[in-house]
Amino acid sequence: MNQYILEIIYLIASVTFVIGLKMLSGPQTARSGNLWAAFGMTIAIAGTIYLYNSNDPSAVTTREPIKMAFIFGGIAVGTIIGWMTAKRVKMTAMPELVSLFNGMGGACAALISLLEFHHNVGQSERIAVIMAGLIIGSVSFSGSIIAFLKLNGTLSKSLRLPHYNKINTLLMIVTVLAGVYLTASNSDSFGFLILVFALSLLYGVLFVVPIGGADMPVVISLLNSFTGLAAAFGGFLYGNQVMLTGGILVGSAGTLLTVAMCKAMNRPLFNVIFGAFGESAAVATGKSGVTGSIKDISISDTAVLMNYSKKVIIVPGYGLAVAQAQHVIHELEQLLEERGVDVKYAIHPVAGRMPGHMNVLLAESNVDYSKLSEMEEINPEFSNTDVVVVVGANDVVNPAAKTDPSSPIYGMPILDVENSKHIIVNKRSMSAGYAGIDNELFYNPKTSMLFGDAKDVLTKLVAELKTM
Ligand code: NDP
Repeated sequence: MNQYILEIIYLIASVTFVIGLKMLSGPQTARSGNLWAAFGMTIAIAGTIYLYNSNDPSAVTTREPIKMAFIFGGIAVGTIIGWMTAKRVKMTAMPELVSLFNGMGGACAALISLLEFHHNVGQSERIAVIMAGLIIGSVSFSGSIIAFLKLNGTLSKSLRLPHYNKINTLLMIVTVLAGVYLTASNSDSFGFLILVFALSLLYGVLFVVPIGGADMPVVISLLNSFTGLAAAFGGFLYGNQVMLTGGILVGSAGTLLTVAMCKAMNRPLFNVIFGAFGESAAVATGKSGVTGSIKDISISDTAVLMNYSKKVIIVPGYGLAVAQAQHVIHELEQLLEERGVDVKYAIHPVAGRMPGHMNVLLAESNVDYSKLSEMEEINPEFSNTDVVVVVGANDVVNPAAKTDPSSPIYGMPILDVENSKHIIVNKRSMSAGYAGIDNELFYNPKTSMLFGDAKDVLTKLVAELKTM
């Protein structure tokens, strides 16, 4: 009887995962989508703890008080740490947190494989599943930790071994072959198991370490899909439908996101997997060859220019999130709209530090969703725009992506802001963006630099416009 109830619970939980995922695709519904999926996960965990009946005689004592104390103790510690970290994290550090949590998922999948190996020796199909979970989970774990360290700036963005491509490919082949050997040989060697584990961890590190420039988003979503896949192998091993469904959903959503990111960055997936891309000599040396003079503009001149424009496009970037200027930019947009100016936001797919970063940020300040235009849609509009205001964006408007084959972002589609009549760029200094390269847009004769913190500058701009 318990088994039937558990199956129904798993079915309900799987449905809530699908509903949750669907709701995550829009900023208005994302928050409740998350809660739906969390509810599904809670009933699945509770159902497994209280209703699961294993055929394995050694598992009969599973619900002994001491074991239950360990299980609930673990859940309590994990919940408290997860809750507190997520509550405290700054919006701009969210991708690091996602990377870290993703790594924990990979580690869980790898631990399951390590624990289950001995119970399944001799059953080569099950060992194959265990090896797949071990290798993919470990790669995802160590790779995500490196991604975390790179995103928070602890690790340099340009750590490269000579011939890293060949080394990585060789290491991947050796790791897979070691896994295949363990599967085919029916060996129960603990030492060999640990070797596969260690090789996979090392591959994860070497796979992510050389990746720098503007390519981290692709890698992060790829590692996400790895974790999903590793969890799905765990579900397969235990015959647990909800783990299988959850893993497949994460794996396929991560893969779709990776493909979408690759398209946005114009990077073939093959290059991502084999670590064939990264930073150019320009980043490694810090020299870009961009020269020329810049001109700056005052707040009052900017206000006049905008006030007498017919059409203004705002390009938000990472700096908008750093400055937390989303509310004041909405105020600026409303003020201009009241004066008959047509205002739109141009959203680049990798602006900020996580997929959909700008959409989430602007939704937070209740910007009308219809005012947000995707890159392909807005690019033809720049040529009939009076003023483009670039707020804290850099790489996503860098023309080097179109003109300089040696640039690390070469080939990435960018927002064609240079086609508009006037370009105003707000940032604090001439510092580079995430890719670490100079931007010739700042030296364009049509560009005026409006230096300062985005929130500070926009607040003054709003005040100035109100006096007009
Ligand atoms: P960039 O990182 O290219 O540039 C951000 C700019 O904001 C900087 O040049 C900085 O200049 C400026 N800035 C920082 N703080 C402030 C502030 N308080 N006020 C005003 N300006 C500020 O950002 P983009 O959004 O243009 O591009 C995103 C980059 O991040 C891409 O290279 C992308 O590949 C990468 N990335 C994206 C991820 C994603 O999923 N979206 C994930 C990981 C990486 P200054 O210091 O002079 O102020």
